Amino acid sequence: MKSHIESVKDEIQRRDPDQSEFQEAVFTVLDSLAPVLEAHPEYIKANLLSRLVEPERAIQFRVPWQDDEGQFHVNRGFRVQFNSAIGPYKGGLRLHPTVNLSVVKFLGFEQILKNSLTGLPIGGAKGGSDFDPKGKSDSEVMRFCQSFMTELQRHIGPDLDVPAGDIGVGGREIGYLFGAYKRLRGYQNGVLTGKGLTFGGSLARTEATGYGLLYYTNALVKAQGDTLTGKRIKISGSGNVATYAVQKATELGAKVITVSDSNGYIYDPKGIDYKVVQQIKEVERGRIKEYADRVASAEYHGGSVWDFDVDYDIALPCATQNEINKDQAKLIVKDGVKYICEGANMPSYPDAIAVYQDSNILYGPAKAANAGGVAVSALEMSQNSERLSWSFETVDNRLQDIMEDIFEKSEAADKKYQLDKNYQAGANIAGFEKVATAMMAQGL
Ligand code: GLU
Repeated sequence: MKSHIESVKDEIQRRDPDQSEFQEAVFTVLDSLAPVLEAHPEYIKANLLSRLVEPERAIQFRVPWQDDEGQFHVNRGFRVQFNSAIGPYKGGLRLHPTVNLSVVKFLGFEQILKNSLTGLPIGGAKGGSDFDPKGKSDSEVMRFCQSFMTELQRHIGPDLDVPAGDIGVGGREIGYLFGAYKRLRGYQNGVLTGKGLTFGGSLARTEATGYGLLYYTNALVKAQGDTLTGKRIKISGSGNVATYAVQKATELGAKVITVSDSNGYIYDPKGIDYKVVQQIKEVERGRIKEYADRVASAEYHGGSVWDFDVDYDIALPCATQNEINKDQAKLIVKDGVKYICEGANMPSYPDAIAVYQDSNILYGPAKAANAGGVAVSALEMSQNSERLSWSFETVDNRLQDIMEDIFEKSEAADKKYQLDKNYQAGANIAGFEKVATAMMAQGL
């Protein structure tokens, strides 16, 4: 089995030697699938892994746009339609200067297994651009989105590929993208998710990833006979995921002591107030530093929140990929942290994960812990198909059930293959099994 996995890795390295993020994501998953291959030699015969790691389609395109001064710019757009074995392609769009084909492929690959874990019929995809929305005016963002959609529209559709938000893409951007799609192709409200509530959006979609992270974490903590009540939590990030993670963690009786952005972090021993974060980041689009000007008990420090030595129980990285390196992972372990669950996609380097796995910390990987966003996106698709809107409570209850089910599935796979509370491998296996069964049934 190992040699088969090694040869699939060699093939990836030969084809895409420079795609480090993609390799990192895929190699971790491949390693955890060894016991599944042992149990299913037919997967090797069908060369299933080689098929899984190759996107069905990867689109790259030019995105020209004009700024408010009349200057012309060109960015690069991507949509990687990775796997449609269990449903139409589904996954977010990321706007950030770090976006390249490797990043989009890593995110698209993760999305296959994440979407499978939700139990809903959605395949895996991801897209985006190296456009930086920071410091751009509303009209510049609008013109960029219109240009981006001019090309993207020919590749998407409610039963084909349904993009949504990710870093740099929130309600404003989805609105502009939707308006541009509508002008070109007519009103089809199932073509994007994360829409505004007045045109087919779902209640609780904004909160979904952050809430879902806490529902998953709560399930993991409860399975150990423990509780969130009174726990001190370090959260990184201050965007959509972090904001609503702070809210739900506080509601569940824990205390969140940090939030951060790419420049520095806030430490508030009295507990972060999510409403202040929401006002600064969502409404004013400001920097997290301003939190300390508004809340007397809070301090601002430059640097990474993961270098900050303080007593706490749970780590919830919610900023971006590869934000925790090996040394920072060692500090997390040394600080006596009991649980780490990932709100961001792939926030821990592989050698940081190795540190978690060599310690007593319990680790909830992104594809399980942050699946709440895409799960509610799929519920938005259901509501659009039946031309109805569900109540906040209905969506939130379904989200909670889905997140608990994801934890249970991961735990069941962990037990089946005797992995000793390796919920990362459990999630990889549980996500993979559904996709593999569908791919086998559909033939080559
Ligand atoms: N960007 C989110 C994720 O990483 C959500 C994607 C979606 O709603 O389609 O899962």
